[in-house]
Amino acid sequence: MKILVVAETLDDGIDPVSLELLTAARTVAETTDEVVAIAFAETSSTPAESLGSADRLICVEGANTDTLTPEAIQSHVLEILECETPELVLVAYSAMGLDLASWLAARAEMGLTAYVNALEHEEGGKIVAHSQLYGGKMLARTELALPNVLSITPGNFPEAPRTAAEKVEAFEPKPLENCQIQLKSLQSPELEGVNLTTSDRILCIGRGISDENGVEQARQLATLLSADLAGSRPVVDGGLLEKRRQVGKSGQKVKPKLYIALGVSGAPEHLEGMAGSEKIVAVNTDPDAPIFNVAHYSVNCDLFDFMQALGDRLEESPAETG
Ligand SMILES: Cc1cc2nc3c(=O)[nH]c(=O)nc-3n(C[C@H](O)[C@H](O)[C@H](O)COP(=O)(O)OP(=O)(O)OC[C@H]3O[C@@H](n4cnc5c(N)ncnc54)[C@H](O)[C@@H]3O)c2cc1C
Repeated sequence: MKILVVAETLDDGIDPVSLELLTAARTVAETTDEVVAIAFAETSSTPAESLGSADRLICVEGANTDTLTPEAIQSHVLEILECETPELVLVAYSAMGLDLASWLAARAEMGLTAYVNALEHEEGGKIVAHSQLYGGKMLARTELALPNVLSITPGNFPEAPRTAAEKVEAFEPKPLENCQIQLKSLQSPELEGVNLTTSDRILCIGRGISDENGVEQARQLATLLSADLAGSRPVVDGGLLEKRRQVGKSGQKVKPKLYIALGVSGAPEHLEGMAGSEKIVAVNTDPDAPIFNVAHYSVNCDLFDFMQALGDRLEESPAETG
């Protein structure tokens, strides 16, 4: 079996999600199977130094930010797919992957399995994918029909080691015709004030916080904890916190030493931004909340009782900083 992994690059090298995809591929690959990675980068670039867990790396040459539109990515990957004819294609459930996975599956007439957070190779050669659907409220087990495109939720597989690829091939894509989208410029959001990506302690509030009074209590607790206050998307969309404090797929990816989640359900899009935190404490009244699957400490109680109890304790003996 051949497994194709579509890697993603960042300005300063490889997106860690690409290394997670390689681990996912290795989870189902037998010793005789081949794992092939695709990177939109030159053969001499950082991706080639990092994607050595693949048996072979195909570098799409000349793919820079001026040309790398969703249409271009789709066309280049399809071209490679037609040459390689893999049984499985692994794509991240990311901004790029969201565009790519379903388009590719339809075009190449492959199955599509989305929101995958675990993979198993069962006896008899069956490959089983586990997915979290509806924000983690439903768990699906899918016996894969091959060929299949898997859209993998980031934050669920450990990163494969960053080693240099031994077999690197340059791929010159066909020129694109009739492109409807052109990239004019790339603008990164401003991150003035708090920068959650470097925080050691984060107190994150979810929809369970209810209103501004709840946010104010959480703000006071964050101060006592020497933690930065963050929120899930509904909290930010509801105007209770600024956008730069959002954790998750469309917010910040964080890896603090301590992450306390209050009234956060643990939807895949939230977990994607915080599952790599060193210690996760989750407080939720729902004993089945998916956040408990990634928490190191699960507290099944009302978050307001928790805030009160922890706040009282910290006032008696303040938290050490650092
Ligand atoms: C493309 C895309 C991108 C997205 N990006 C993000 C993102 O960046 N970040 C993000 O967070 N989400 C993102 N989402 C949304 C995501 O799917 C979820 O809807 C969201 O994470 C849910 O937020 P929540 O956990 O705060 O709310 P809910 O899912 O409503 O959960 C609230 C939780 O609070 C608990 N609760 C309620 N009251 C209390 C109480 N008094 N005490 C204790 N527990 C209580 C409930 O049991 C529940 O589990 C994205 C979705 C899409 C489709």
